Amino acid sequence: MESSASERATRLSDARGVLARIWVILKSGSPAREDETRARTVVLQQLMLSGAVVVLFLIGMLLEQHLSDPLFLTGAFGILLLTFVAFAVPWNRYPVWVSIALPALDALGVLAMRVAEPTSGVAMLWVFPAIWLSSSFGVLGYLLASFGISGMYWFAIRYTGATPSVLGNIILPIMVIAVSTSTYFSFRRYHAQRQLLDKQATLLSRTLERTQHQERLVTQVLDSVDFGVMLIGIDGTIEVTNEAHDRVDRSLRDAQGERLPIFAADGRTPVADADLPLQRAQDGEVFDDSIIVVGAPGSPQRSISVSARRLVDSRGVDAGAVVVGRDVTAERTALQARDNVVASISHELRSPLTAILGYIDLALERDDLPSGVSDDLQIASDSAERMTSIISEILAASSSSNATMDVTISRSDADLGILVLEAAQAWEPAASARHIQIITTGVDWQIRAYMDAPRIRQVIDNLISNAIKYGRDGGAIWLDVYGDEIESWVAVRDNGMGIAEEDQQRLFGRFVRANTEVGGTGLGLAISRDIARAHGGEIYLGSTVGQGSAFILRLPARVDVILPPITAADALAMRGAQTPDEASEGV
Ligand code: ADP
Repeated sequence: MESSASERATRLSDARGVLARIWVILKSGSPAREDETRARTVVLQQLMLSGAVVVLFLIGMLLEQHLSDPLFLTGAFGILLLTFVAFAVPWNRYPVWVSIALPALDALGVLAMRVAEPTSGVAMLWVFPAIWLSSSFGVLGYLLASFGISGMYWFAIRYTGATPSVLGNIILPIMVIAVSTSTYFSFRRYHAQRQLLDKQATLLSRTLERTQHQERLVTQVLDSVDFGVMLIGIDGTIEVTNEAHDRVDRSLRDAQGERLPIFAADGRTPVADADLPLQRAQDGEVFDDSIIVVGAPGSPQRSISVSARRLVDSRGVDAGAVVVGRDVTAERTALQARDNVVASISHELRSPLTAILGYIDLALERDDLPSGVSDDLQIASDSAERMTSIISEILAASSSSNATMDVTISRSDADLGILVLEAAQAWEPAASARHIQIITTGVDWQIRAYMDAPRIRQVIDNLISNAIKYGRDGGAIWLDVYGDEIESWVAVRDNGMGIAEEDQQRLFGRFVRANTEVGGTGLGLAISRDIARAHGGEIYLGSTVGQGSAFILRLPARVDVILPPITAADALAMRGAQTPDEASEGV
């Protein structure tokens, strides 16, 4: 007995295993995903039928028909009971075919009611399970609906007796088959459309994913470059910017977020809003390497190089613009420093060279030269001439930037009067070559200044050299040095060609020349003024064309002096000094 009991247990567990496997297979055949709509469909379909049954009951009660047949009630209440089942069972968790039990049982319920009340027309209720079966359970459901329900109907007729009309006996099955067929095919079409839509949705979401991926990639690439990029739409709105652009943008604003003033490449000329690179790009302009300088002159300035290009879409239609901005402050500063060094060294080499050449020429003019010396001097003169031309070439090659130079000076208390007298002596030969007289009677040799003596000597050399160059043959140069406890002055005046009013303002710019007949570089005055300003001083100019020019250098006399600014007219009038005109009368 015991062994048979254990055998039974084994068989039972085997049978369970088989059932479990069938269950898994069936389950795997069903859509694994949870389908909320399926549960809703079951409840809805069931509710429609039970609603119809309830309405039937109510109408029956109103018409005082006795629907009390036990079989009828069994069918009707069976259908109502199935409504509770429809609500209670979580249909999503089971395979689709499980819910086929409900319409099948509903059809049986209707059969019971039809058998109990053959004349009540209750058979029409079969339409409900027929629609349900053919819409939700594929071909099997459709066959069940068409032939199962028709079979039930004929069974009922056999059981309760046929109607007198033959047509009356087949009209219901025809109707059920017609409804089932049309439902089945409409739902098949509906499913096909849904599958197509699903496929398109998947395709669309994949495309979207790919696009988003590419967009992320482009954003990452854009963010990793160190130049600002801005995409402008056709309507001029800024659509995309990268991180570097935000950094550049921040550098254009002060601590309060206000935009700093913007200037042209020279760092001084203000730029009108309409000429700003962004505005030009928005107006459709295409340009390369347009430089703007941000920040007021005198404060730290940043240089930004901006380029703009138009964009076209795949149809070749204008699609806005891309603007690229780059901070080129370091590059421009380096270039400017290079130019300054080249220009300044070259220019400063010229002045002593001119003096050397002058003295060699003087020496060459002497008759008492020992033999061979004149040849040596000629060689020296040729070499000095060559050096002058090399320096001129270097100067010509250096940039024509107008920016000022950073002058490094080392100041101390020094003799200004003596410095000027020494310079006068050095330039004597060059001046006498043109029969120009250098008059130093106005030099107070006791005047001192707080200055970098070699640098100020450069300035004096430049001014005397110019006075000779642009002076008149047989003319004169007056050197004056004067001052007090506060300020020290040097005036270099000539009765040469003079400078036109309109040229006077710009002559202190680099590479600016009013007179191109005489050789020069246009750098001397610029360098001189930079040196004067580095001392906290200034150079003033007064000139009349055809009469002569006066250049006046103003320097602090002592270490603790800060000179207040004055106008050129005041500077010229300061000493009540003779004008070049008056002075020339005395020559
Ligand atoms: P460079 O003499 O090498 O041309 P500068 O900067 O020293 O350069 O002078 C700039 C210009 O100013 C000169 O080209 C000349 O036209 C004008 N200039 C300078 N000094 C005088 C002067 N004493 N008289 C007339 N013109 C002058």
